[in-house]
This record gives sequence, C-alpha cells and structure tokens, in this order.
Amino acid sequence: MLVLFDIDGTLLRTEGAGMRAMLETFRALHGDLGFTLEGVQMAGGLDKLIWTQMCMHHGLETSTHAHARFRTAYGERLQADLTVAQTRAMPGAAALVQAAHSCGAGVGLLTGNYEHTAHIKVACAGIPARSFPFGAFGDEGASRRDLPPLAIARACAHHGRAFESARTIVIGDTPLDVDCAKANGCLAIGVATGPMSREVLADAGADLAVDTLADTQTLIAWMQRMTARAS
Ligand SMILES: [Mg+2]
Repeated sequence: MLVLFDIDGTLLRTEGAGMRAMLETFRALHGDLGFTLEGVQMAGGLDKLIWTQMCMHHGLETSTHAHARFRTAYGERLQADLTVAQTRAMPGAAALVQAAHSCGAGVGLLTGNYEHTAHIKVACAGIPARSFPFGAFGDEGASRRDLPPLAIARACAHHGRAFESARTIVIGDTPLDVDCAKANGCLAIGVATGPMSREVLADAGADLAVDTLADTQTLIAWMQRMTARAS
C-alpha cells in the first residue's frame, strides 16, 4: 500500500507562521500594498494558487518568472523564520509515518506546500526528512486533484514496483484532501486536527474520519484491511 500525508493540519501546525511568512514575502517583494489573506482559500489550497489569487487581487504580474521569484523568496523567509517552537507536531502523526514504513508501505507527501517549504515544515516538526522520499507539491497541478497521480508515479519510480490508486490512502484535514483522493480512486482518511470537524470530513466522503492520528495500531489495521480488500 501507499500512504500519502498532507502537511498543515495533518502532520503539524505552524500556528500561522506559514501564512505570516507568505505575507511578509509579498511585502518584501512588492512593498506594503495592504496584503491580507482574507478571502483566500488557504486550508487544503495549493501554494501556487494562493499566490495567484493574491496577485490577481492586488493587480500584480502572474508570470512564471514572477512566481519563481516569489517561491524562492518565500522559501528563504520560511527557512529563516520558522522555528521548532512554532511548529507543533500533531498527536500520533510521526508515529503513524514510522509505523507505515515499518509495515512495508510506500510513504510520501501530498501537500499544497512547495517542495522546499514542505521539507522545512516537516523538519521543524521533528519528523526525519527520509520519512518522505517522494511527494506531490503545491506548484505541480491546477488543482489538488492533479496531485495523487503524480505521487503514485513517484512512488513507483522510487520503489521500482507498482502502486495502485485503490491501495493508496490519502490522509488530510480538509474536504479538499478527501476530494482529491476520491476523484482518483484512492482511499481517504480525514483527520480533525485542522480547521474541520470529523463530521465535516465524513460528510465530504472520507472512508474513515478520526479526531487525531493518535491510535496508530487501529489506523494501520484499517489501512491494511481496506487495501487488502482492493486486491
Ligand atoms: Mg492540510
């Protein structure tokens, strides 16, 4: 099986530090144009789309070059500003990542973060970088639905064996995580450690909705049972 983890609200929370770094990057690049993330789809959103919405709202250029400049500057700022103290690992998240590896699963990231900032956040939460040898990231698709096929292809390339969507589990904290899983024939676990309740995630179609990832054994057993059923 393949297990794909979302980052913000799922593995960890940065308590606004990520958003602040993004806003400060806009100010550093463009001056203070009254940047705010109000009305921007943050939770479950893709960083490149957040950037695009911000640029359009403030009449800024949205060229490939402008995006590359922002991505680099934001990565540098987050690297400089994000501290271990600001980053809270969610209960059971690191243990579940480790347990998934231990039972032979492929383990990767499926996140709206850029690859660089994804690894900065994961490191600040104390999860070893080697835990996620591949992933799909926030500037690699027009929507989150584009990301599972990329992550699955990278799992295949990394492990040199086939992974199927029916045996792929996406774990995330928003209806958009659930949606990208179900739209691609994957299983979805919704976890209510982000802004959404367990009920909201279940209503969005999660195959399993839990309050936290703390119950490692039950979650692994569920994943093994559900992916065995797919064979
Ligand atoms: Mg999230």
